[in-house]
Amino acid sequence: MSRLPRRRSVQVRVGRVVIGGDHPVVVQSMTNTDTADIEATALQVRALALAGSELVRVTVNTEEAAAAVPAIAARVREFGMDVPLVGDFHFNGHKLLREHPACAETLAKYRINPGNVGRGSKRDPQFAEMIEIACRHGKPVRIGVNWGSLDQDLLTRLMDENSRSAEPLDAVDVVREALVVSALDSAARAEELGLPHDSIVISCKVSGVQDLIGVYRNLAVRCDYPLHLGLTEAGMGSKGIVASTAAMSVLLQEGIGDTIRVSLTPDPGGDRTKEVQVAQEMLQTMGLRSFTPMVVACPGCGRTTSTYFQELAQKIQAHLRRRMPEWRRQYAGVEEMTVAVMGCVVNGPGESKHANIGISLPGTGERPVAPVYIDGEKGPTLKGEHIAEEFQALVEQYVERTYGTRKTP
Ligand code: SF4
Repeated sequence: MSRLPRRRSVQVRVGRVVIGGDHPVVVQSMTNTDTADIEATALQVRALALAGSELVRVTVNTEEAAAAVPAIAARVREFGMDVPLVGDFHFNGHKLLREHPACAETLAKYRINPGNVGRGSKRDPQFAEMIEIACRHGKPVRIGVNWGSLDQDLLTRLMDENSRSAEPLDAVDVVREALVVSALDSAARAEELGLPHDSIVISCKVSGVQDLIGVYRNLAVRCDYPLHLGLTEAGMGSKGIVASTAAMSVLLQEGIGDTIRVSLTPDPGGDRTKEVQVAQEMLQTMGLRSFTPMVVACPGCGRTTSTYFQELAQKIQAHLRRRMPEWRRQYAGVEEMTVAVMGCVVNGPGESKHANIGISLPGTGERPVAPVYIDGEKGPTLKGEHIAEEFQALVEQYVERTYGTRKTP
């Protein structure tokens, strides 16, 4: 699979994961359980890691949450997983890290928001304390600026300077500049305090697509730190997915972004792992990484008057996702497989021939048979009640035959 060149010269190690340099874009996610609830958080970390999240962030907002972090990590290891945990700190991070050294040691990275480390004279010493703790434990830090919690003193200063300028910028451009300045000034201060250059990741999250693109293009030319990319408060459902993809794909296409998180608001009781799936699909459809075999399916039209072909496409996609954890261990390269499920004879055979394995179902009025194509060649023709099960069995045989001979790295 082709990859666009990444542009960061610096790479940052977070546990066993590397962000930046020419490493593939890392997928990360964040829990929404109460971190103090060890079992619920560990189970969600496991679910996110199983879905493919390579880093998982937990909020560390209270004494109880900080005290729970080592036990969460231990429980996740009992599940047989070693996904690095990142701690998200605001307001009281300096105190929690100071008073909970086991938490400070367990976390693989700290996220520090320069807008939320303390007001007035408390800001600098509290920021310094967090950085000093990171240095002592040898941990990298993400300087994570957010539009909604931008350092107001800095913003006021830049607005004042702008108003005195001969050619003042629009207010929105001053806010964008303030985000970048906040991140870069904080990173420079962290380095003065002893944090190595290659222990810093930067993010400047906003909720508008054009703002994100503008801010990250600016960041990318003004520093060589790896960049954590994400649209904050992207929203729910298709709006959140579309907005995140619209913004991030433009930047990723330009080689900007070394790790991504898709910040979707789940439906009440919804599945948190959806954000991981969307991040993976974004990278895979752009040709940047491969995670899971993809199903190519036509949209259907008046030639598909039953829901049969939609159900088959859905079943096959679910089957591929379900089988992937085991396949990943056994069959190197299987994540690059494409499976076509097509609704009728118009484009069915052609599209199926382009896939590794494809099936062309009978449209309305066509003979009730479904030819299968394997590596571009006509294979068996399925018919009767059990087309779905038989096609699934053919996919299994194809995977074993094609990828079974390759060694997993
Ligand atoms: S392949 Fe057939 S069923 Fe699918 S959209 Fe095209 S014409 Fe319609």
